[in-house]
Amino acid sequence: MSRVCAREKGINLAQGFPDFPAPQAMKDAGCRAIQADINQYAVTWGAPKLRSAIARRTESYNRIAVDADRMVTVCCGATEAMIATLMAVLDPGDEVIVFEPFYENYGPDCILSGAVPRMVKLRGPDWAFDERELERAFGPKTRAIIVNTPHNPTGKVFTRVELEIIAKLCQRWDALAVTDEIYEYILYDGAEHVSLATLEGMADRTITISGLSKTWSATGWRIGWAIAPPEITSGIRKVHDFLTVGAPAPLQDAAADALDFGSDYFRRLATDYRERRDLLASALVETGFGLVPPRGAYYIMTDVSRLTELDDVRFAMQLVAQGGVATVPGSSFFLDPKDGRTIVRFCFAKKRETLDAAVRVLRERLGVRR
Ligand code: PLP
Repeated sequence: MSRVCAREKGINLAQGFPDFPAPQAMKDAGCRAIQADINQYAVTWGAPKLRSAIARRTESYNRIAVDADRMVTVCCGATEAMIATLMAVLDPGDEVIVFEPFYENYGPDCILSGAVPRMVKLRGPDWAFDERELERAFGPKTRAIIVNTPHNPTGKVFTRVELEIIAKLCQRWDALAVTDEIYEYILYDGAEHVSLATLEGMADRTITISGLSKTWSATGWRIGWAIAPPEITSGIRKVHDFLTVGAPAPLQDAAADALDFGSDYFRRLATDYRERRDLLASALVETGFGLVPPRGAYYIMTDVSRLTELDDVRFAMQLVAQGGVATVPGSSFFLDPKDGRTIVRFCFAKKRETLDAAVRVLRERLGVRR
């Protein structure tokens, strides 16, 4: 959709990346690191300075005890951390439970690791899962479950109670949990971020993945990490070594400084995103989209059935045409495209003027319904 958007000279609310600058202090630190000649390979599994900063931050925010030397692998983004983890822990024929709608990479990651993804539905409007359906998905072949909270694309933040259900099933079936917590600081309306690794019995069976892309608005830096018990970390590090050798050395150095930003930075990030969410959500409601405001991350899933008879792909193409607004068709988040037929996803990680321009176009094209 980003390519279609460029062709149509549209406004890109499709792909999940900010169109505003990364933090100045982090950019300055990156320039200094390059000038200081931190330009050769870092330690394969991450520069010690960054691993220590990750351990500090994860201990203070997520309340997970982290040994920087034995439990952290720095990767080229959460994307690599996820596939390196899955390749390290899965054997051919293993099953991995994935909640649907899903972030696009999880299915292919499982398949590339020789495993079979098993979908469990999150159902709108509040994107809850059915406990019995989840129970039925677990079995002797289940090796892992992937939990993404806050969740892309729905904006769901898994509650402690939901995570306890997942934790119990993981222990019953001796399965691992791989969590993708990349949006962990982007929370609204008092939502609480709970790391699955902190629940009873889960520290030894959880791999916690996060990164720089979303919290520090730097998707192009390609810095992410996996935190896991030492034996699992040893496997992840081997796969990581053969996949990419290492993440960019000067950017690791700068990322370490950014991880130590004070609490104001993280508060401000969430407040700014809430303002963007509210601006876009109210314009979407006004123009006829159905939605439940997200409690985390920076996307809004919308139901377009009141607006069109077209399917999601055709509607998205029509909306972006000739200087319109780009979205992601809902079918990209489901195994069966029919399940996303009436859904499109908007991303609001955008400058105020980008969102204002998008709102103007939506009002012009769809009209205001109240
Ligand atoms: N995980 C989720 C849930 C995402 O939405 C994204 C990007 O959109 C990523 C991971 C990618 O993270 P990274 O840029 O660190 O590879």
